[in-house]
Amino acid sequence: MPDNRLHADGARVLADLHALRGIGTYKTGVHKPTFSEPHMRSLEWLAERLPEAGLTAAIDGIGNVLGTTTKSGPKLLAGSHLESQNFAGWLDGPLGVVYALEAARVINPDPNANGAVEVAAWCDEEGHFGSFLGSRSYVGGVTDADIDAARDRNGDRTMRDALREVGLAGRARAKAERGRHIGYLEAHIEQGETLESGGLSIGVVTSIVGIWQYRISFSGEQNHAGTTRMDVRKDAGLALARFCVAIDDRFPALSGPRTVWTTGRISLDPGAPSIIPGRAEMLFQIRDDDPRVIERLEDLLRSMAAAISAQGRCSVAVERIRTGAPAMMDATFQQTIEAASSVLAGGRSVRMPSGAGHDAQVLATIMPAGMLFVPSIGGISHHWNENTADADIVTGAQVFVETCRRLLMQ
Ligand SMILES: [Zn+2]
Repeated sequence: MPDNRLHADGARVLADLHALRGIGTYKTGVHKPTFSEPHMRSLEWLAERLPEAGLTAAIDGIGNVLGTTTKSGPKLLAGSHLESQNFAGWLDGPLGVVYALEAARVINPDPNANGAVEVAAWCDEEGHFGSFLGSRSYVGGVTDADIDAARDRNGDRTMRDALREVGLAGRARAKAERGRHIGYLEAHIEQGETLESGGLSIGVVTSIVGIWQYRISFSGEQNHAGTTRMDVRKDAGLALARFCVAIDDRFPALSGPRTVWTTGRISLDPGAPSIIPGRAEMLFQIRDDDPRVIERLEDLLRSMAAAISAQGRCSVAVERIRTGAPAMMDATFQQTIEAASSVLAGGRSVRMPSGAGHDAQVLATIMPAGMLFVPSIGGISHHWNENTADADIVTGAQVFVETCRRLLMQ
């Protein structure tokens, strides 16, 4: 039987990824903060390649690159991002952009293919200026006032200044046209070890977890560290430390299989060794894709706090400061990625949630969305040692292109 399937060109995909790695190289990775010179050169690199896929390229007023077509038929949007974390890896972002470019190059000119793939590189996914500003702008979630308020976390410049410096000030921001796309597909490195340790090639993302964040405050009594006997102290710092340990002891009984929790910044007030801290505060984060699990854990957190307060030494207040919204990936997209994996990756795929945030969670608010992961060597990411085996990159590209083709046929 003749093979009429359209194939990704693995060598071309690898060459493109290495070309992007050559812009803003840092050690074995890259350093491309949003609106830096290497970031802008990467956007231009993409804009120059999009016509190879029959796409018209434009960079909009927030730094999104969009490749669009006038071809009739269904259209699938695909992409990721091109800026990096500081001094980070070469695949986080570019992998998904190059896969999207490759899918467009293979599918768009083919007279037998149905519809077309349109390509996006979303600006500032890595959050140098905000949170998913590029993709959120596209779905209509960013106001001009939001941009006025945005500042570079690496320095002092405002987003307005940065946009002016790179020549994007005054340009219109591209907005999603309702109904234009059948959905959004994004590929990404896993940034974890599930695929590698399982000998798997493809992660079929089921959901992108929501992030819930808390400020937990402890109030005791500030006093002299030399003259206050241990048995009468009301040490807010000690109460905080015990609370951290208690969380780790008690959360597992009520958490889900992939729930994660992390204590971030801890501060003691005053933070001096000769003073018993009267106040202490910790920032605490929980991630899961099931709000019911979070509700259980939040109830537990509050009951633990109440129990400590009831003992009378220190009072504990739990304040939720961020409420996560998990994004569910579309069921048809998941099935299609799985079916493409069974043909092109020997079925070595697994369904899994994403513990990290991605632009797909933003696109999922207005259209069906799906994601696939390729293995990360050693699970390393946000570090210049981030890497994926060439064979896995090529397999991922093949599964990605086949998934696009099948989605457009449906
Ligand atoms: Zn990324």
